[in-house]
Amino acid sequence: MTTTTCPATRVRSLPVLLATEDDAEDMGLLAPDDRLTCHVHGRWIHQCVASPAHVSPVTRHRWCRGCRTELSVAVDELTLAVRMSCPRCGGGASAATARLTAACRASLAAERDIRRAA
Ligand SMILES: [Zn+2]
Ligand SMILES: [Zn+2]
Repeated sequence: MTTTTCPATRVRSLPVLLATEDDAEDMGLLAPDDRLTCHVHGRWIHQCVASPAHVSPVTRHRWCRGCRTELSVAVDELTLAVRMSCPRCGGGASAATARLTAACRASLAAERDIRRAA
């Protein structure tokens, strides 16, 4: 067992994973960008990533610098597809947004696995 990998495959519920990720983050073992859960909203990251709280012009999470606009989010729970793009220019990619998109895909997959195991 390693502490640096995501614990999602071992957990059975969202509250357990939330608490686990809170602890891992506090201990410096988990980067906020890599969380599958959101401690602000108490949900899976893909369920609340469309909230304005997940937009950051400084780090460029969900932010198009060229247009100074929030990226829109499209989550497809069937295909586990997550897309973020600027409603004005269609672009807006950044390293921070790519990482957020990856976290959303992982949280989608983790939620599905827990539903299947239940
Ligand atoms: Zn959130
Ligand atoms: Zn744009």
